[in-house]
Amino acid sequence: MECNEKNSLKILVTGGAGFIGSAVIRHLIHDTSHEIVNVDKLTYAGNLESLESISNNARYSFEQVDICDANALKRVFNQHQPNIVMHLAAESHVDRSIDGPGEFIQTNIVGTYTLLEQARSYWEQLEGDKKAAFRFHHISTDEVYGDLPHPDETANKVLPLFTEKTPYAPSSPYSASKAGSDHLVRAWQRTFGLPTLLTNCSNNYGPYHFPEKLIPLVILNALEGKSIPVYGKGNQIRDWLYVEDHARALVLVATRGVIGETYNIGGHNEKQNLDVVKTICAILDEVKPKETSYLEQITFVSDRPGHDMRYAIDAGKIEQELGWTPAETFESGLRKTVEWYLANQEWCQHVQDGSYAGERLGKGQL
Ligand code: NAD
Repeated sequence: MECNEKNSLKILVTGGAGFIGSAVIRHLIHDTSHEIVNVDKLTYAGNLESLESISNNARYSFEQVDICDANALKRVFNQHQPNIVMHLAAESHVDRSIDGPGEFIQTNIVGTYTLLEQARSYWEQLEGDKKAAFRFHHISTDEVYGDLPHPDETANKVLPLFTEKTPYAPSSPYSASKAGSDHLVRAWQRTFGLPTLLTNCSNNYGPYHFPEKLIPLVILNALEGKSIPVYGKGNQIRDWLYVEDHARALVLVATRGVIGETYNIGGHNEKQNLDVVKTICAILDEVKPKETSYLEQITFVSDRPGHDMRYAIDAGKIEQELGWTPAETFESGLRKTVEWYLANQEWCQHVQDGSYAGERLGKGQL
C-alpha cells in the first residue's frame, strides 16, 4: 500500500480538538477521503465545538484519551488500526509554561514518550505493506531553535533564518519540552527504526485560536473595550502562518514526506508584534468603527522573562521537495481572522467559560 492521498488511510490525530489539530481534521474531512480518529484529553485548550461542522461525518471518530495513559492508547491503536499518527497534542502556551512547567513536562515529554512506545509496539506487529506504509508524524515548533538576531540589534544586513540544521537552543519551559519531544522522536527513529517525520512551524493564526494567544486576545480585548497588552516595546518579531496553510503542509508531510526527515514550515511573514496589533486595530476601525480608534487601547506591559526576540523560518525544503506554498498573505489571513472572530462571539464565550464541551455533545458518546 502506497502512502499517498489517493488511498483512503486511517489517520490518528492527537490534539485534534485544539487550534491546529481541528484545522487538520476539518481539512482531512473536507479535502481527502481519509478516516480520522481524534485522540484528545480535552484540556482547557481542547474544544469539540471547533469540530462541530464535521463531527457527524462517518469518517470521523473521537476518543477522549490522555496521551500519558499507555493502556488507553494501546486500546485505541488496536481498535482503530491507524496507518498514520499525526501527533499534535501538547501544552502550548509559553506564559502558562512559565507559571507552571509541570504539565508541559508531563504532556509534551512523558506523553510523547508514551505515545511513541504504543506506536512502536503497534507498528512492530504489523506486516507487509501496512508495516512499510506506517508513519509517525510529530508536529513541533520553531521555538526549539531559540531566537535569531534582531534587525534593531545587528548591523548585519542579511539576517539569518532557521533551517532544518539550526542547532536547538530553547528558551522557555514550553520550547524546552517540545525540544525534548523532538529528540525522543528522532531517537525512536534511529534506535528502533520507527518511521517518523518531524515538522517545525512558525507562529500560527486563524479561526478557532484560544483567546489567550496574541492575535485572538487583541481582537477580543479590543471589542470588549479592554486594554490591549503589548509585551516590552512590542518589537519582537514572529513569522506568521495562516493555520489552514499549516494544516495543508502537515497532511502533505504525513502522506508524502521522506522517513526520518525534518521540514520547517513558515509563511515568510516576519512582523513585529506591535505592527500586528496596530494592523488588527486598523482592520477593526474599518469593519467595526467606534468613536475612538482601537489603537488608543494599546498598553505596554513588562516583558515576558526570557522572551525570544526574533523567529524566522526558511521553508525552502518543504516548498522545493513537496511543492507546498502558503495560499494566504498576512493581510488576507488577518482580515479573515478578524472577521471570523466578529462572527463567532458565541464560540469565544464558550471556550472561555468552558460551557460547551460535553454538555451539548455528550462526551461519553463521542
Ligand atoms: P492547542 O493548545 O490549541 O491544542 C492542544 C490540544 O492538545 C488540545 O485539544 C488539548 O486538549 C490537547 N491535549 C493537551 N494535553 C493532552 C494530553 N495529555 N492528552 C491528549 N490531548 C491533550 O495547541 P495548538 O496551537 O493547536 O498546537 C498544536 C501543536 O502544534 C502543538 O504540539 C504545538 O507545540 C505545535 N505548534 C503550535 C504552533 C502555534 O502557533 N500554535 C506553532 C508551531 C507548532
